[in-house]
Amino acid sequence: MRGVALGGAACGASALLAYAVRGRSSTLLAPSVYRGPRHRRSIALTFDDGPSEGTNQLLDILDRFNTPATFFVCGMNVQRLPAVVRSTAEAGHEIGNHSYSHPALYFRSQAFIANELSAAQSIIADTTGTAPRLFRAPFGVRWFGLREAQRRLNLLGVMWTVLGRDWKLSADRIASRILRQADNGAIICLHDGRGVGRNPQIGETLDAVARLIPALKSRGFTFETVTQLLCPIN
Ligand SMILES: [Zn+2]
Repeated sequence: MRGVALGGAACGASALLAYAVRGRSSTLLAPSVYRGPRHRRSIALTFDDGPSEGTNQLLDILDRFNTPATFFVCGMNVQRLPAVVRSTAEAGHEIGNHSYSHPALYFRSQAFIANELSAAQSIIADTTGTAPRLFRAPFGVRWFGLREAQRRLNLLGVMWTVLGRDWKLSADRIASRILRQADNGAIICLHDGRGVGRNPQIGETLDAVARLIPALKSRGFTFETVTQLLCPIN
């Protein structure tokens, strides 16, 4: 809540709104978390915007290192590549809801937001057999009406501790950025897609992940899904 505390009475309405919408620790518009407890040397890798044509390569890397992850998928992508999200779930990874069509939720109606979440939720549940418990807002943007939409679907919002910026950085820079910022309970945000675009180029992410997992293991971290990470008694 640092943004609010620093702003105090001087925090103007527009600054407070910007924090409420985009601040990773803000829960003003909907309940969310951005990290797990610090007492375990655990970390959660999360991948947004899949499934994509590149996801199977990522699954191979995670399988090689026996590493669980959490995938925040878009309903439209699941409709395009249902077998990929099914394999992801069958491999033991957690599947979260990342909306149907990946819109920024600013200035959207309550009905629009509710529909984006519920359409994705139904498609994911029908495809994998399990309804997600976690939601990540596209672009990290929360808006009025999201709280109610999450509540109806029993979804907890998940932001991130470390943003990989893997949509524009090289594998070297993604890996060094994450290694520098990783700490106990961190939730790492990476991407195996680009919104709902087809054939996204995710080669830098794949290279970074293949280097990061052994490097983080050698520093004593174990990998957990977000739901495992958030459990205080694990
Ligand atoms: Zn996204």
